[in-house]
Amino acid sequence: MGLAQHPSRATPGPSGPGIRAPAGPALVEEGDDRQLLRVAAAFRGFLDALGLDGSDPNLAGTGRRVARAYREILGGLRAEAEPSFSTFPNTEGYAGIVSVTGIPFYSICAHHFLPFFGTAHVGYIPGDRLVGLSKLSRVIDFFARRPQLQERLTEQAAQLLDERLAPGGVVVLLEARHLCMEMRGVSRPGVTTTTTAVRGAFEDPQQLRRFLAGIHPGSAARPAHGE
Ligand code: ZN
Repeated sequence: MGLAQHPSRATPGPSGPGIRAPAGPALVEEGDDRQLLRVAAAFRGFLDALGLDGSDPNLAGTGRRVARAYREILGGLRAEAEPSFSTFPNTEGYAGIVSVTGIPFYSICAHHFLPFFGTAHVGYIPGDRLVGLSKLSRVIDFFARRPQLQERLTEQAAQLLDERLAPGGVVVLLEARHLCMEMRGVSRPGVTTTTTAVRGAFEDPQQLRRFLAGIHPGSAARPAHGE
């Protein structure tokens, strides 16, 4: 079946696809490969159950390709994927909203295992510490890369930021398209689902409107979904 261990995992390094030194991470990769083979075999069973011909040249390596794709797509399930939080003292006492908007994200709906994807907007009001801005998008990515519900993803991101930064407030707003709503079921292409999670100062509607005005200029009066 051509499923030898380590035939060509990931991309070859600059020194080519030679044998890599068995350093610390090698054990983890060993475990990963067993899992990869299990997922590949399970997917071949899935294709078989659909009545598809596994000997079709286009399906021949599909089980393994799918397993590799999902290992990446669901990479947030690995404990080591949780972003570390490098923070800096808020020496100037900045007390306004810090927002990072238009963060693209891709996730998988836990109910149908079809993608949902869109844009995240994250804001916080610093306490004693500021966080590296890239961490805000890393948090979205971490929770997106697992079987998810948009509501839960939104809440988990807000919760982690609230716990780690002890900020004056946190807001996470997600706008997403769900392929399980577009390709099947109600078949509503292009419909956007919006979810919002707030902590602290953003529980005040006025503060939330300030944040919304920053991400959708001119629509500050737009009510937040679910409020
Ligand atoms: Zn779904």
